[in-house]
Amino acid sequence: MEYDKILAQIQQEFSDTQPSGKVASYIPELAKVPASKFGMHLYDLNGENYQFGDSAERFSIQSISKVFTLSLAMKVMGDDLWNRVGVEPSGDPFNSLSQLENDSGIPRNPYINAGALVVADVLVSSFTNPKAALLTFLHELTGDTSIDFDYTVAASEQSEGYRNYAMVNYLKSFGNIENNVEDVLDFYFHQCAIAMSCRELAQAFIIFANQGTTLDSDREFLTGRQVKRINALMQTCGFYDEAGEFSFEVGLPGKSGVGGGIVAVNPYHYAVAVWSPPLNHKGNSALGMAALERLTTLTGYSIF
Ligand code: GLU
Repeated sequence: MEYDKILAQIQQEFSDTQPSGKVASYIPELAKVPASKFGMHLYDLNGENYQFGDSAERFSIQSISKVFTLSLAMKVMGDDLWNRVGVEPSGDPFNSLSQLENDSGIPRNPYINAGALVVADVLVSSFTNPKAALLTFLHELTGDTSIDFDYTVAASEQSEGYRNYAMVNYLKSFGNIENNVEDVLDFYFHQCAIAMSCRELAQAFIIFANQGTTLDSDREFLTGRQVKRINALMQTCGFYDEAGEFSFEVGLPGKSGVGGGIVAVNPYHYAVAVWSPPLNHKGNSALGMAALERLTTLTGYSIF
């Protein structure tokens, strides 16, 4: 597959496009990121890299981090995790509180905020230093030990993340949070504030295209069964209440974040990351989705 030509065509097609949508501003630090940033990086199973634009610049990965924390929680807790969080799409915004009342404090899935907070609680219970454990996981996946939290972004969300405070307290009232709510939120705000580039995200996500094993170090981080489940959840729940639209347009499992990043995998073929900060009204990168739609159309294959 001539990914170099296809990425060049995508860059060309969107070169004059003013991205629609708005850069997230509910986390004040994110509002400072220029709307014009645009980059894409594809890493295939032959170990080849293809990229354009701002693909090497780090940005706030936000909810994309939920795939990494879910991976760690599945490793440490096994199938017992599913007693505390479901596997169904929510059909509601990522920060909705309303379903928790009817569902007795069991979040619909690990990729909405409520589910990610339960997963964060599992990691706070499982590791003496959960932040260090998460960074070590990313360093091992990418071979890059400079990946770190953006502490300014974490503090920015910590100062205004009222909904997440409400959510974790509400979950605790149902008995689905074991730890001190401040400790869970501190971990959660930091995981969301990890800064990575499209290149680093594509490298880290290659395990989801390669049955749980890295290409460079040939190390198995997850079993094939775990990867199947993580990818299935990305397909059905990875885009807030727009997972159907992403499947319809792009046809790959993926995860977005309010920093404007999207990572998607084509199992057995590649991992791809795209970054454009302006978000559509559902909270997904508008240009990022459009670029990935062109990728699966121009290559002629998605998972469907
Ligand atoms: N830190 C963000 C929040 O909890 C993450 C949201 C996202 O990227 O979807 O609101």
